[in-house]
This record gives sequence, structure tokens and C-alpha cells, in this order.
Amino acid sequence: MKKFDIIIIGGGHNGLVAASYLSKKNKKVLVIEKNENVGGLAEYANNLNCISPIITKELNINAANTNNTNHIISLEDHQNHTVLEDNNGKLSFIKTNADEHDQKNFLSIINNYKIFSKTLGSFMFKKPPRVKSGNKADILQLISMGWKVRKLGKKNMRELLRVIGLNIADDLEDNLSNNNLMGLLSHEAVLGTNLGPRSPGSILTLLYKQAINNNVFNFKNIEVADYINQLEESCNKNSVEIIKSTEVKKILTQDNSVTGVQLNNEEIFESTCVISNSDPKTTYLNLLGAEILDTDFIRRTKNFRSKGNVAKLELVFENDININGVANNMYGKFIYAPNIKYIEHAFNANKYNKYSENPCLEFYVNKNILSANVYYVPYLANSNHQENEIIKKCISILSKFITDMKISKEKLITPNAMEVKYNVAGGHWHHGDLEIDQLLMMRPFYGSAQYSTPINGLYLCSAGTHPGGGLTGINGINAAKKVIGDLK
Ligand SMILES: Cc1cc2nc3c(=O)[nH]c(=O)nc-3n(C[C@H](O)[C@H](O)[C@H](O)COP(=O)(O)OP(=O)(O)OC[C@H]3O[C@@H](n4cnc5c(N)ncnc54)[C@H](O)[C@@H]3O)c2cc1C
Repeated sequence: MKKFDIIIIGGGHNGLVAASYLSKKNKKVLVIEKNENVGGLAEYANNLNCISPIITKELNINAANTNNTNHIISLEDHQNHTVLEDNNGKLSFIKTNADEHDQKNFLSIINNYKIFSKTLGSFMFKKPPRVKSGNKADILQLISMGWKVRKLGKKNMRELLRVIGLNIADDLEDNLSNNNLMGLLSHEAVLGTNLGPRSPGSILTLLYKQAINNNVFNFKNIEVADYINQLEESCNKNSVEIIKSTEVKKILTQDNSVTGVQLNNEEIFESTCVISNSDPKTTYLNLLGAEILDTDFIRRTKNFRSKGNVAKLELVFENDININGVANNMYGKFIYAPNIKYIEHAFNANKYNKYSENPCLEFYVNKNILSANVYYVPYLANSNHQENEIIKKCISILSKFITDMKISKEKLITPNAMEVKYNVAGGHWHHGDLEIDQLLMMRPFYGSAQYSTPINGLYLCSAGTHPGGGLTGINGINAAKKVIGDLK
């Protein structure tokens, strides 16, 4: 039986980050990945908007932006698209049908949110404190968090506390009149969440993303696949053993402590430390087993909300793609979420586990390939998706903007398919909703925060932990640091 200092279940980007970091600390690390390639859900990501500079520095990853200018193109049915340019974080309008007053207000809303997201940003990269631990480090961290909010000044602090529970639609309607601009910001607030523009907390999700990404529209022109390759190379260089196409069936324990893992082929690897890159629900209910956890903990696990609702659409065209009304040399992302009402209608269907007649799209174009996030396409617990119907709806929307569409290949990956391939409960972008009761020291839930679990030697490092999903790597590095701290 082979023995390792640390076994990591899953070679998603967070698993790889944790593995590379731990092996650099002279630990013998094994990563076991179910699929033939590592990277996990990163397969569906188009951009690395939120890769943490801590990761690039500590693991020596080259994430230099090859293109400092990005475009954000918010599509409008009458071809009056809004085109914004993001030049190293500085946002300006290239083209829009919004009047000057709205343009000014749009930029000032983003700047005002930036003040709050900067404060939140200082909480994002660290392990969140335990509220009642009495531990000196936790108390100091809590005081520091409180001080950072207080430092905003009376007016801004009050405003932060006011907007944090509000819905984005109300704030935008108070300050803007242009539908396209309101649709664009609402889209940024709700993509990947289980919220609509009128759901309370949808400003918080925007602030949260802005805090992690360092900007609302910040995204880097780097191949996601290149980032994953660099992470894998970093693991290989540091002698991490990676076994692919192999699934862990069970986390083994004795007397409430981890002893190793058992694979689907019954093989056993021993270790007194296991880190799960699988989501919290799957880790506790499937890999560990409810029988060794107490009833209240199981209730909290089951109540963790993780219904995914974003599908991935991939279309290959016979010719290079040109979007009407947009210069074809623009690198950027296209958004079809034309107004608040449209997004809210799409969200209404999602509430009842149906997909909307009119989904929202966020897409990227590379020559003749179009890759889109389609929302809301809810995870279906008891039925199958009609993939062809959804593809037809998307093509019908796209045909408003792309003339002469000759498609040679089409593929839709639903949250159900993502669940099957990557064992992610609900096929959720963040492994669990980003809402106020599932954030920071409450993520994923009470009794399992700060990357630890009720089982000695078992840790979590996936997007289901603080600070949530996206290709930050923060979950992986924080979990690894927690392990090193505990081993000491
Ligand atoms: C459609 C879509 C588009 C997205 N687009 C973006 C984007 O553009 N930018 C961005 O930053 N983020 C994006 N995200 C979010 C981002 O991809 C995820 O949040 C992130 O990849 C999660 O990483 P992870 O390492 O925590 O988990 P995962 O990527 O889920 O990795 C978990 C790994 O564990 C493996 N595993 C699970 N169980 C077992 C087992 N029992 N045995 C062995 N292996 C196991 C899985 O196969 C998987 O490889 C997107 C997500 C989706 C769904």
C-alpha cells in the first residue's frame, strides 16, 4: 500500500495549486483526478479575470496580459450596441446610444462600487476568521475587518451597509435610463449565481466579483489551457505524483481521523491528510458518507444551495464570424442581456426549473468558433434537458447579429452534464451559491469553514470554500497554508 504525506482528491485548478504549494514545502503529494485531463471546470472558462497575484508569484506562473485593451460589447436588438473599452482597468465608451448623462452615471456607479469592493477585496485573499474561536489571530483579523469597513468614513460605510442587501435593478433604475447599460451591469451581477436582477443581494455579488477581479470588466487575454498547463508543470517540477483517469470512491477514516482513500478499482492509498477538491456536498455525502457525521451537520450539508444554471454552448462556423455593427478586430466579450426585464424573465423560468424562451448569452469569438455561457439553464434533478431546443433558441438570438450563419458543429454542455463529468453537485459554477449566508466565514457553512472539516486530517480546497469560484486559485493556496499550519 502506497503512503503519501498528503492526498488531493481532484486535479481542478485549486487542487493543482494546493499540490504545487505543498510539494514546495517538501511534502510527498499525490493528486488523483477522475478525468484524463486535469483542470476540472476550467475547461469551460473563457478568461482568467481573477487569477490571484499571490498564485502567480508563489508558484511562478506567467500570467502576463498579452493584450491590455479589452472590449465589452453589449448587444442590442436594433444593432445600437454599446461598446466599452477597458484599458488596463480604465473604462471608456467607444460607441453607445446612451446619452451623456447616462454614460457619466454608468461610470460613476462603477467607481462608487469600486470603493466598497476595495474594502471587500482585503478580505478575499485570506482565510476568513472564526467568529467565536477566541484565538488571537482570529480576533485580530475580525478587528482588522471591522476597521477596514470603518475606514470608509461615515457616509460610505452607511452606503455600503445600505446597498449590501439591495437588488441591482433598483440601484440602476434610480440612476440610469438606458436599458442596454442596465442590462449589462445586471448581467455582471447575476451570471453564475442563482439571483435575478431583482433578487436581494445582487449588488453584493457584483461587489464580490469586482473585489476578486479588481474591476468589474477586468479580464486577461491568456489561454485558460496555458494556465492549467503551467500549473501541471509546476506540480511535475516539484515531484507531485498525478494519477489521471482514476476516481476516488471513498475517504477512509478511523476514530474520526482520515487514514487514506479508496479508489473505484478498490486500490487504497494511505495518508493522514486528505484535501478534497470536490465540492462540499459531494465530499461529505458521497466520499465520506453521512454515517460518520452528526445529524445537524448533515442537515447543513444538504441545505447548502448548489443548483447550477449556466450551460456552455460551442458553435463552429464554416467561415470566420463577423458580428453586425462591431469592428471584427475587437478582442472582447459579447453580452446579450438587453435589459433588466429580459434577464428577470429568464430568471423567473429558472425558479421553476424551466429554461426561458429567451436566454441570456455571454460569448467570445475566435475566428470561426463561438463559445457562449447560456443562462439560465437550470440543473434538473429529475428530468433531462432538451439540448436541441436550447441550441435552437440560442441560434435564433445569435442570428440577429450574425448574418449568413453556416454552422458545422454545435454542442451544449448543461449543468447536469458538468455534474456527471466533474462530480460537481448541481454543476454549479461556484460549487455553491454566492449569497450572504454562504460567504466568507460562513462558506460553505457553519462547522466546515476555514477549509477544515469535522474529521481530523480532512480539508476542503474547492470553489465551495471561501472566496468561491472563478480561476483565482485562492481556495487552493489557503487550504494548503491551513494544512501546513496544522501540521506544525
Ligand atoms: C460554464 C462555466 C463557465 C465558466 N467560466 C469562467 C470564466 O470565464 N472565468 C473564471 O474565472 N471562471 C469561470 N468559471 C468558474 C470556474 O471554472 C470554476 O469556479 C473553477 O474552475 C472551480 O475550480 P475548482 O478547482 O475549485 O473545482 P473543479 O474545477 O470542479 O475541479 C474539481 C476536480 O476534482 C475532480 N474530482 C471530483 N471528484 C473526484 C473524485 N471522486 N475522484 C477524482 N477526482 C475527482 C473533478 O474531475 C475535477 O477535475 C466557469 C464555470 C462554468 C460552469
